[in-house]
Amino acid sequence: MRKNIVAGNWKMNKTFSEAEALMCDILDGLDKINEPLADVIICPPALYLEMGVDLVRETPVCIGAQNMSQFVSGAYTGEISAGMLQSMEVQYCILGHSERRKYFAENDEQLAKKVDSALANDIWPIFCCGEELAEREAGNHFNVVKGQIENALFHLTPEQFSNVVIAYEPIWAIGTGVTASPEQAEEMHEFIRGLVAGKYGKAVADETSILYGGSCNAKNANELFAKPDIDGGLIGGASLVADDFLTIIKSF
Ligand code: PEP
Repeated sequence: MRKNIVAGNWKMNKTFSEAEALMCDILDGLDKINEPLADVIICPPALYLEMGVDLVRETPVCIGAQNMSQFVSGAYTGEISAGMLQSMEVQYCILGHSERRKYFAENDEQLAKKVDSALANDIWPIFCCGEELAEREAGNHFNVVKGQIENALFHLTPEQFSNVVIAYEPIWAIGTGVTASPEQAEEMHEFIRGLVAGKYGKAVADETSILYGGSCNAKNANELFAKPDIDGGLIGGASLVADDFLTIIKSF
């Protein structure tokens, strides 16, 4: 179902006590917001998922993982499966983040399997796509994003697809302080929605939440979220500061 979403990707940051304090500060701040206009998802490092799940119980906040294995179980040292996440009451998982693609060589084929495994275990994927600066400069950004989405998601049935959140994250904007302009972001979000409509029909496309990620912060979220096809944000750096993250949540 299409909804406004603000998801925080904490990446590999914070000690346990810092993470706990940040989680509590965000929850305290949310308590003071009268009817937030967005669903909030917090994606801490895997070690802290249990702490997060415990703290958000009885609140509207959801906990998400930052990655998971494509395998079900077995001899995959260091990996965490979708079934394990489900058993810990984790509800979402970021999949295909550009940092996973870049540093851990994740490819579309693996991601398609991860998406399947997540959905089979009732974990909602937050599927990331986005182009490099050189690809945009070469005018190839729409093709790149189209390929990522087609290869990893378009084998799904419409029912399965309706449980996927898409995050458009231009790689040149992630952690750089350079944000896509609201017009650039909207142009891509509209394109993605059109792509989904072409495959699954307009009704499914209209119900898909498409988030923007890439140096989205307390100052620019307002303008970005005002665009018709931008349903919220996947927030990295600014999700590590409770006040900034809360301001972003209030930016609808
Ligand atoms: C991200 O890592 O998904 C992200 C969008 O990071 P940042 O907000 O720091 O650019």
